[in-house]
Parts: sequence; structure tokens; C-alpha cells
Amino acid sequence: MAASSHTFSENTEAATQHLARFAHAPLGHFINGSTTAVPDQATFANNSPIDGSELGVVAAGTPADIDNAASAADEAFAQWSTTPGVKRKSILHDVADLIEERAHQISVTECVDTGQTMRFMSAAALRGAANFRFFADQAPSLGDGQSLPTADHINFTTRQPLGPVGVITPWNTPFMLSTWKIAPALAAGCTVVHKPAEWSPYTAHLLAEIAVEAGLPPGVLNVVHGLGEEAGKALTEHRLIKAIAFVGESATGSMIQAQGAPTLKRVHFELGGKNPVIVFDDADLDRAVDAATFMIYSLNGERCTSSSRLLIHQSIYDEVVKRVAEKMAAIPVGHPLDPSAVIGPLIHPNHHAKVSSYLDTARAEGAEVLEGTPWTEAPEGGNWVTPVLFTGADNSMTIAREEIFGPALTAIPFADEADALAIANDTEYGLAAYVWTADVGRAHRVARDLEAGMVWVNSQNVRHLPAPFGGSKRSGIGRDGGDWSFDFYTETKNVAIAFDTHNVPDLSVG
Ligand code: NAD
Repeated sequence: MAASSHTFSENTEAATQHLARFAHAPLGHFINGSTTAVPDQATFANNSPIDGSELGVVAAGTPADIDNAASAADEAFAQWSTTPGVKRKSILHDVADLIEERAHQISVTECVDTGQTMRFMSAAALRGAANFRFFADQAPSLGDGQSLPTADHINFTTRQPLGPVGVITPWNTPFMLSTWKIAPALAAGCTVVHKPAEWSPYTAHLLAEIAVEAGLPPGVLNVVHGLGEEAGKALTEHRLIKAIAFVGESATGSMIQAQGAPTLKRVHFELGGKNPVIVFDDADLDRAVDAATFMIYSLNGERCTSSSRLLIHQSIYDEVVKRVAEKMAAIPVGHPLDPSAVIGPLIHPNHHAKVSSYLDTARAEGAEVLEGTPWTEAPEGGNWVTPVLFTGADNSMTIAREEIFGPALTAIPFADEADALAIANDTEYGLAAYVWTADVGRAHRVARDLEAGMVWVNSQNVRHLPAPFGGSKRSGIGRDGGDWSFDFYTETKNVAIAFDTHNVPDLSVG
């Protein structure tokens, strides 16, 4: 049965069953094919975003744990990197099969661990399987290169796996995001040490278990839990780890770059965003309003590509704001396991406090704050929010400049195309942008001039796995997706073989 077809009570029953193991015993790391014991190790508590109760405790990884995991990954690399691509493909498809089989377990675990609603997490679990299949299919051929002959030499290129790599992920859609990094790394023949976000540790463990069950050799995928400043930092500094694939905040990306500098780490960063959606006066307003609403209020607004700035042509500003406000007010806020809920509680009390603080900031800076309907049955102690629309704003306000990472949208009017572009680009971020217009020439001009790694025209974020994903400016370094992922996880080698026809200089002859 597809995960999304379960009822609220079936989801609740499954969550009780699947989360019991995490409540009964501290969760250890997953190193060299098995879960580590947590005898006297320091742990951290993992609390429910729904009611604040403790879900369980988790081992707080130390530099010694990272060293064990990196050594396991290094040892496993010799075998995994030389495993034929067709074999890697077959094992990674088996991983995808098991993800599909256990999609309901993954999605209920993710809902309770993160507060994201089942409506999105059921699809996200299956996207994890799709990521594995997509990258698995390319394992047999990803080492292929080019033939670059000259008169005297044949040059040919190959791509070879880079080595053990570190993957550091955030807490928004953690399972899906981790597969987006781990699947291409494994397909390329790299081994992995994964440091999941401390606020959402559980599905990383499920993925490691699934991978071993599917036949991935021990040590190829390892998980070390813990705090960013300790376990994460140690991973970025470890001499055996060749590269860090990181998804998270821009400020953390800067720290990782500095931490990785002494060991010359290759880095791939997917960072924050303050993404504009530009609605021109000739746009299909029904579709534009639905897309803008979807892109900020889905996934609790905890989404790097969320359309957090709504730029509206001044002639239709009132109309669009009215329609978005009506849609927002009708969005169901509810328990993450309730299939009808759209918005659930935010991940953590600290994040809840941060998101909530922007309402006061907005009022203090002169914007108006329209709030959706809160969920009246919200349990005590949870990180519950209501969706928010800021109006009467301009692009200099804090709500237009900082990444809020919650269900909060800032509406800003613009005068003409040049003004729209100037406002859209007036940000330190450059991840995604969305343009709504019926004018083909304008669509091309604006897409060309937007400072963003990805632009969608007359669409929301609809992903195509072969297409590149990533940001410019402070939103990232590098691209994922398609073949771009493999450039990161491999080393390109050029081999030049002489036809024995060229001159080899003899330095002893004067
Ligand atoms: P974060 O940067 O606080 O944490 C991300 C991960 O980094 C966690 O696992 C954390 O433990 C670890 N970490 C923290 N400090 C570290 C350090 N010094 N060294 C090594 N690791 C460290 O991010 P978050 O709050 O978990 O996630 C939200 C952010 O992620 C938002 O800014 C969002 O835009 C971004 N994000 C970006 C994309 C994208 O594709 N561009 C996708 C999803 C999320």
C-alpha cells in the first residue's frame, strides 16, 4: 500500500510501533555494518516537535567515533571502489526496493521526528527510492570519459571514485535529502560517513540498516550522530575524508570551508535561500497564486527553495495579496500524521522561537502581519505555528532579507520589469527564482538576468533528476543532479599515450 493511503489512526499505530525501539534504548552510531553500543557515552535527547516529549536519546559522536567511522569507510573503499558498476547498480536498486517496502515506516518516523506532515513525507520517502534508482542506473557508465587525440598522442579521460566522503545534512526532509547525496556517492564507488542533523537523527539510521540488508558491504555507509560543532567538525577535519557534501545554512558552510582547509577538502554546498517569485500583470493568476502559496506553505516553509518573497506588479498587488491571504487562511494546520494536515509543528523550540520572532520584527519595521488559523487542538509543549503573510513590506525589511525558514511569506510590490529584477537580485542569496508571465520574451529576459542557480517559469519547484540543482552567491557551491553529482564524487584522470612519433628532447646534446 502506498504510504499516503493510510488513515490517521493507522499512521499513529505505525508510529507507536516503529518509534518504540528508539524510546527503549539509546541509539548508537552505525559503523562498519552494525549499530554501536552506547555504554558510557554522552548522549543527547531527541524531543518530539508535536508535544515536546522525549522520543529517545542518541549517542553524541566524538572525534574518536568519527575516526572509527572514517577508518571503516577507508578500509571498505578498496573493495567498493573496484566493485563493477553493474554490481553497484544492482545493490543500489535493492536499496531502492527496500525503501519502497519500508516507505510507511520511514515516513511515519520522519513525521514524528521532524513535524513535517505525512502529505509530503510519504512522497519524500518514495523520492528517496527514486534517487537511488536514478543514480544506480548510471553506475556502470559514470567512469566513461573522452577521447582527445593529437597527431602524436591519444589522450583519454576516465573518472575514478574520489575516496571516503563525508555527508552532512539538515533536519528539513532529512531522509530524502540524505539520499540525494548518498546515492550518487555510492553509485560512484565512494564510501560515506553521514552526520545527520541532531534534531532529526532517526531516518539516517533506517537508511543505513536498509543499505546493509540490501547487500551493501559493511563500512561502505556509516552514520555518526552528534552535534555539528563536535561530530560534524571532526568529520570535516578528518584526514581520510576526501570531500564534504553539505546541506545546511550558509554560515555553517563558511565554517566547514575553513575547517576543511588544512586538509584541502573538496566541498559541495547547498545552502540557504531567499527566493523570489515574480508575478507580472499578464500572468495566469490562478496558477501563480496556487504555486506561490504551495512553495512557501508546503513542508512547513522549512524548504531551501521556498518562494519566500512574493514580488507582485503594483497593478495586481491588492488582488494577488487578497487571493493568497484567502488560500493561506484555509490551509489545514494539524498533526503531522493526519493525512489531511498541510502544516505541522516546526522542528525545534529554538527554531519556533526564531520563526515567531519575525512577526514582532515585521510589525516593528512597519509591515502588516496576516495570520492563518491556528490548530486549536494542538498539544501542549509542541512547536505549533500558523502560516503568516507579511504585507506593506519593502525589500529593505528584515523579513525580506533573512531566511526565515518557516511558513512566512513577504509580499512586495514592483513597478516594472527592471524594478522586479532589481528587487529579486537585491539579496545575498541566489538559489531559486520563479517567474510568472504570459510574455515569452520577458520570460527569457528575466530568466537570463535573475541571479539564481535555478529559475522556474510559470511553474513551482518541479524537479527533474537529470537537471542541475544548486545555488549561486551565498546559496551554494557546486551542482547536484544528473552527471553533475558524479563530477563531485569522482576524480577525472587524463591518460596520454604516445604513438612514438613525437620528438623527445635529448638535453645532453648542446
Ligand atoms: P545547519 O547548517 O544548522 O546544520 C546542518 C548540518 O550541519 C547539521 O547536521 C549540523 O549538525 C551540521 N553542523 C553544524 N555546525 C557544523 C560545523 N561547524 N561543522 C560541521 N557540521 C556542522 O542547518 P539546519 O538549520 O539544519 O538546516 C536549515 C538550512 O539548510 C537552511 O538554511 C536551508 O536553506 C538549508 N538547506 C539548503 C538546501 C539546498 O539544497 N540549498 C536544502 C535544504 C536545506
